[in-house]
Amino acid sequence: MNKLFQVEGYGSDSGVFQYRRDLLTGLQCRIAPDRIHRGIDIPRRPEGSNDEVPCVFCPERIYSETPVFPDGSRITVGESVTFPNLYPFAHKHVVTVITEAHDPAEIAAGRIEDALRGQVAALLGDGGYVSCNWNHLPSAGASMLHPHMQGMVDASPTFHAGIAIKQSEAFCRRTGSMYRASLLEEEIGGPRHLFGDELPFFAHAVPLGEKEVRAYLPVRCAGELEPWCGLLAEGIERVISLYRRAGHYAFNMSLFCDAAGRPDAGFRAFCSLIARINPGVTAMSDSAFMERMHLEPVVLTLPEDIAGYLP
Ligand SMILES: [Zn+2]
Repeated sequence: MNKLFQVEGYGSDSGVFQYRRDLLTGLQCRIAPDRIHRGIDIPRRPEGSNDEVPCVFCPERIYSETPVFPDGSRITVGESVTFPNLYPFAHKHVVTVITEAHDPAEIAAGRIEDALRGQVAALLGDGGYVSCNWNHLPSAGASMLHPHMQGMVDASPTFHAGIAIKQSEAFCRRTGSMYRASLLEEEIGGPRHLFGDELPFFAHAVPLGEKEVRAYLPVRCAGELEPWCGLLAEGIERVISLYRRAGHYAFNMSLFCDAAGRPDAGFRAFCSLIARINPGVTAMSDSAFMERMHLEPVVLTLPEDIAGYLP
């Protein structure tokens, strides 16, 4: 530990990674060397060679070849199957395979709702900061084509979640009203209001990515999400349709929640989606939901190991 940066290691049966924070800027990253074993370090592969079907997320293989929770189980809700991530970079890091179909042309709201319920079921109980995330297609950073979400719980919020929570609470103290209430008052019925009343979806005024759409939920933490999974999933399906009409197939999504044990000081959970416009369908992007939505990169190489690559 020094005055310039913090390093916190974390290890479990399934992997070792570090949280690092730059104390000058507050910027954070995660370093997960084991993730290199996903086989993503191949710079170029012949077209089609990555299309192994059935893949390990397909029904033929998922129940025998994916990891299980400590009690030996996986969580199934409808078609969705949730299990621990083989290459974690969070205290709790789970994968939810959304559909039985390997590469469905469309994903119905009901499938998305079931997957969200599976994520919530897997992520509750630790009391930490929860997010539900989705990299869709390799050009959005997915290492598997088969549609899947990733859920995380950590003792500290990611960089973006931390700012959103802290500043929502400061906004509430300063103005006496919740940020969500002020946003809805300003945006409902305006040019950025896409649809929805109880759970409105807005084009975000200061986008983090192409065609960013956000939905601010009326609840704060993951334990309160359950009654909202249906409406949220319907909205997500509509945003995905909107993206397809605009010519985008790849996207990232993150649903940011507060930690259950904290007092309610004005933050509300929100779900954000961005379209990815990289047309390289066979290439896997190295920026995914952590880089684009949480603003907290996950890298593979320890800075202390880089000198080893000098000639
Ligand atoms: Zn598959």
